[in-house]
Amino acid sequence: MTTNKVKKIIIAGGGTSGWMAAAAITKLLGKNLEVILIESDDIPTIGVGEATIPTLVYFHQLLGINEAEFLKATQGTFKLGINFESWRDLKENYLHAFGTTGKDCWAAGFQHFWLKGKQKGYANDFGDYCLEQVSATNEKFAHLPNNGLNYAYHIDAGLYAKFLRNIAEKHGLTRIEGKINNVNINPETGYVASLTLDNKQIIDGDLFLDCTGQRGLLIEQAMHTGFEDWSHWLPNDSAIAVQTKAISAPLPYTRSIAHPFGWQWRIPLQNRVGNGIVFSSKHVSDEEAKKTLLNNLEGELITEPRVIRFKTGTRRLHWNKNCIAVGLSSGFLEPLESTSIHLIQQAIVRLMRMFPHTRIQQEDIDEFNRQTRFDTERIRDFIILHYKVTKRADTPYWQHNRNMSVPDTLAKKIDLFKNTGRVFRENNELFDDSWMQVMIGQGLIPKSYHPIVDNMSDDELKRFLDHIKGNIDGTVKQLPSHHDFINQYCKSNSA
Ligand code: FAD
Repeated sequence: MTTNKVKKIIIAGGGTSGWMAAAAITKLLGKNLEVILIESDDIPTIGVGEATIPTLVYFHQLLGINEAEFLKATQGTFKLGINFESWRDLKENYLHAFGTTGKDCWAAGFQHFWLKGKQKGYANDFGDYCLEQVSATNEKFAHLPNNGLNYAYHIDAGLYAKFLRNIAEKHGLTRIEGKINNVNINPETGYVASLTLDNKQIIDGDLFLDCTGQRGLLIEQAMHTGFEDWSHWLPNDSAIAVQTKAISAPLPYTRSIAHPFGWQWRIPLQNRVGNGIVFSSKHVSDEEAKKTLLNNLEGELITEPRVIRFKTGTRRLHWNKNCIAVGLSSGFLEPLESTSIHLIQQAIVRLMRMFPHTRIQQEDIDEFNRQTRFDTERIRDFIILHYKVTKRADTPYWQHNRNMSVPDTLAKKIDLFKNTGRVFRENNELFDDSWMQVMIGQGLIPKSYHPIVDNMSDDELKRFLDHIKGNIDGTVKQLPSHHDFINQYCKSNSA
């Protein structure tokens, strides 16, 4: 098996991960491969996962997807960031926007200039120097030249899977409807040899993508790859999801509203709003969480509230022998920064870059696993940051979060920023400017700023800050409203 060329890929599972993989592999590598996707109508997809980050725009460009068609088909809206409400402290809000804030100089990031301006009393809020943040709060949107406005999407996950299925089937994918009853392992190599379906059909293949969701049918149940539990850092283990009718124009950002024992999401689509509450079952009952969610909704319910359980952590290996875990089968980080679809996309693109066209090699497997672990751990740290750095201590849940120990990698980042105002991007970790936005947003104000700032007189610094803000305000004034932009660019027929 190890010397075989990979000619036949089996994708087990047809949720967002299965269909993203299917569309990308058939479209970009498909001519030389046989690609089969197996899904079961009897086993529902997780049915959530509707907020994305800007990397999805590039994934779609790679696939040659027409953006307006995609948004029409998925009831999509634009997303410029996430509004964190009552996270820093009760009733204190900030927006983590997708763009960069202010202008850096060669020696020091913009935050140093802002810090001095703030100390002197003439700087506005940090976010006022970020175009995406100001556009978001003014509910404005348009495409700007040279990606001048960074954005992502809110989408209907079910419709997105259908949209991707069309692409995959157009490019030669075979879809098989059926329940996988058995994963057959080659006893000599430990490789997955085939899958047996409930109708006794046996599907063999060279490379298997496990997209079966949290159950990890291949990677865990059959191959026993192992799971690293991170719930001591991220104790939320449950969610309740519900959809409501839209009662106003969709906001160009996700809302994340902190509660005494968790937080609530609101994801505005063209026709409806996706809502949910994420919580720690150690700190609140399902009933109480549901009551809080229902008391904080707008618009009529269009689905029944549904409880979802999850475990935070990561699969010990994401690629094991001839099986690659993609999506929820590879592990889970709560959806606070909408990073799961991004991790799916990363796994797919990484596989394409390391595609085992001559044979499956341990060197590729090791590198794939190393890169995936790095990405996942950095995102994990970024999510923990929101819980650790907060002034909230009003409930046992928030007290626990504030007081917990955090991974060393995160502790170092927090200390460096607190003492020096510096933050450095490690290799090509996902988040960059975001670290600053969230650290400042959560109330972590550095003790000092870089001395290069003192090269500017107070007047010069004030003019510098005012100039940036003036440019942003001027640009935002000219943008259409997000709602108008959607109506003319990508209005869905059934919105
Ligand atoms: P699933 O959707 O569970 O799909 C599994 C598939 O496997 C199904 O098609 C099922 O039929 C098939 N299957 C399983 N067993 C068998 C079998 N025996 N035989 C045949 N087929 C089988 N991500 C984001 O990026 N943004 C978000 O805003 C976001 N919000 C989330 C909110 C919550 C509460 C949760 C829990 C997750 C959220 N996520 C979010 C994550 C996101 O939902 C998932 O990453 C994404 O939906 C991918 O899921 P999946 O395809 O891996 O698994």
